[in-house]
Amino acid sequence: MNETALQATPFGELTVATADDIRKRVRDAGVVGAGGAGFPTHVKLQAQVEIFLVNAAECEPMLKVDQQLMPRQAARLVRGLLYGMQATGAAEGIIALKEKYHAAIGALTPLLPPQLRLHILPDVYPAGDEVITIWQATGRRVAPAALPVSVGVVVNNVQTVLNIARAVEQHYPVTRRTLTVNGAVRQPLTVTVPLGMSLREVLALAGGATVDDAGYINGGPMMGALLTSLDTPVTKTTGGLLVLPKSHPLIQRRMQDDRTVLSIARTVCEQCRLCTDLCPRHLLGHELSPHLLVRAMNYQSIATPQTVLSALTCSECNVCESVACPVGISPMRVNRLLKNELRQHGARYQGPLRDADEMARYRLIPVKRLISKLALSEWYQDAPFTELRTEPTQVQLPLRQHIGAAAVPCVQPGETVLRGQQIATIPDGALGAPVHASIDGTVASITEQTITLVRG
Ligand code: SF4
Ligand code: SF4
Repeated sequence: MNETALQATPFGELTVATADDIRKRVRDAGVVGAGGAGFPTHVKLQAQVEIFLVNAAECEPMLKVDQQLMPRQAARLVRGLLYGMQATGAAEGIIALKEKYHAAIGALTPLLPPQLRLHILPDVYPAGDEVITIWQATGRRVAPAALPVSVGVVVNNVQTVLNIARAVEQHYPVTRRTLTVNGAVRQPLTVTVPLGMSLREVLALAGGATVDDAGYINGGPMMGALLTSLDTPVTKTTGGLLVLPKSHPLIQRRMQDDRTVLSIARTVCEQCRLCTDLCPRHLLGHELSPHLLVRAMNYQSIATPQTVLSALTCSECNVCESVACPVGISPMRVNRLLKNELRQHGARYQGPLRDADEMARYRLIPVKRLISKLALSEWYQDAPFTELRTEPTQVQLPLRQHIGAAAVPCVQPGETVLRGQQIATIPDGALGAPVHASIDGTVASITEQTITLVRG
């Protein structure tokens, strides 16, 4: 059977391709981890593991992307998972999703071949932190600073796996992104748009903000970053746009500069250790203890180097800041500052995996409680999937939408390009991903950071 032969299955026609071909097609299509920092997927597919896990938890409360894509593209998701398993040699495939995603469970269940299963997660935060997802779905615990592959698992999110299927079956590059626009907007929605479109235009699709003085978060309320400009383009890793009044605590906290964060930590920490008692990584048996890191920042002379290094294992899930600390300290921001400093010195953490806390399962945060704690009840709403024709007149495509080296332009200003055409390549021998045109148009400009295309 040749590599492009098709095999009829209950979940559609499976393209028969070798593991090398799958990785090559995924690389050529510019697929990167859509749920996190954008690790190039073809590199992840080089791992040989036992389990290929689809992380479909989507536990950021305001984001509604994966839960709506799964019922719409269930067959493609199953095929993408099977391609991922073939590339990584995995014998078992798991889709970990929440019980409340009824439509997804209903659509996926009849399609599952024997080597695949669903794992139903509780509606808690952070069920989608991959270390927590692996533990819940397989019982395996990843040691601090280790990768999932160390326990025989590789994890990808829903949009990544759908992009794997498109790359393998249609050689279809990543040129679009599905994201949720939610909060203080006229018409909350989930929509698929061309990469490089500005978040200002995406906001317009949702009817604009409903508050005069709005603040914007790029992503979800827990892990999203404060947006300083709505001209920021949609990239391969943009999860959502959250709009809130500027006076909302989630915006105000993010506007605090580092000096203020440190000064609050120095002045009011009472070492109650609630941040540590609720830290998901600590609960799983990691050494990370945010109360000790806050203390280390305040009284550097009594901190052991090992304690300080453990900041490198913080996932920045934000539980310590948004849920745990009763006096408004952000251990997460303290950790982030420590991490930046440690990384500049090339520091690495090595530490033991201790026993998990017996109460770990019960200390993850129920999403309903999280919404109330975040003062989001007023803004929490559905964001239904909406088919819209989006034709931006211009797109700005960053050359680095992934972990690794920036892509190198392979087009010239003035050149005409077609949607899907490769416009920047991976530098020789580097970790990276290519970039493709997301609209038909002309190359208007090229800088060190971006390629701008104008339609027509
Ligand atoms: S952000 Fe806070 S709660 Fe989350 S892993 Fe880091 S220290 Fe733990
Ligand atoms: S929860 Fe707040 S006050 Fe308590 S130890 Fe942690 S940072 Fe300090």
